[in-house]
Amino acid sequence: MKLRFLGTGTSTGVPEIGCTCEVCTSTNPRDKRFRTSALVEIDGKHLLIDCSPDFRMQMLEVFKTEQFELLDGVLITHEHYDHVGGLDDLRTFSRHGKVVQIYGEKEVTDAIHARIPYVFRENKYPGIPNLELVTIDDKPFEVKGIQIIPIRLIHGNLPIFGYRIGNMAYLTDLKIIPEEEYAKLQNLDVLIINALRNYPHVSHQTLDDALKNIERIRPKRTYLIHMTHTFGLHEKMQAVMPENVFIAYDGLEIYV
Ligand SMILES: [Zn+2]
Ligand SMILES: [Zn+2]
Repeated sequence: MKLRFLGTGTSTGVPEIGCTCEVCTSTNPRDKRFRTSALVEIDGKHLLIDCSPDFRMQMLEVFKTEQFELLDGVLITHEHYDHVGGLDDLRTFSRHGKVVQIYGEKEVTDAIHARIPYVFRENKYPGIPNLELVTIDDKPFEVKGIQIIPIRLIHGNLPIFGYRIGNMAYLTDLKIIPEEEYAKLQNLDVLIINALRNYPHVSHQTLDDALKNIERIRPKRTYLIHMTHTFGLHEKMQAVMPENVFIAYDGLEIYV
C-alpha cells in the first residue's frame, strides 16, 4: 500500500491568511500545509480519505508524476468543511458514466446531501459530478475488495470515524479515542494521527495527547497530521520528536 499525504494542515491551512508568524512566513515547502486529506493506492486501486477544499490543487500536484482515471472510493471521516469542501471537484473522476462512491456514516452522508443538493437531483445540470453516497455504520466494510475497519473517535462532542486499512490506521480530528477502540489499533505498522498544536483545544488533541496515544498504541511508525501554524516550524519540531514519530508534510509518500 502506498499513501500520499495530500494535505497535512488544520482547517485554515498553513499559512493562515494575513499571519506573519515564523511558520506562516517560512520559505520551507514543508511549512505549507493544505487541508488534511490522503490518497491511498492499494492493489492498483485508489482511495481518497476526505476531500478537502484544496482537492483541486492537491490533485494537480499528484498528476505531475502519475495519472489515473478511476477513484475507487472516498472515505469521509466527518462532515466539517475542511474534510468535504472539495467534493464538487470530483467531477473529473465521474465523467463518461463513471460514478464515485462516497462512504460515511448516516449523519455524514445526510450532511453532504444537504451541502451539495444539486448533485443528487433527478434531473442534473450537465457536467455535475456523478457521486453516490454509501452509508456505513460502525462495522468493517469493503470497497472493491479492500477491507476497511471504521474506528470510532470523539472530536469535541462530535462522534467521527477514523479508518484502518490493513496495518495502517488513519485517525484525524480526534480529541478522545474511546477505551474500547484501542483493541482495533493493535499491531499497526503505520499510525497516522492528528496533533494540532502544543496547548489545549476544545475538539482536537494536542501534541502531548498524540504522543501519549502513540505510546499506548505502539505502532512501528507514526506520522502526525492536521497541524496548525502554532505547532512550530517543521524542521525544528521534527528534531525533537521521539524515535519513529514523523511530522507528515504535503506530498510525502509512504509505503506500508
Ligand atoms: Zn479538520
Ligand atoms: Zn473537524
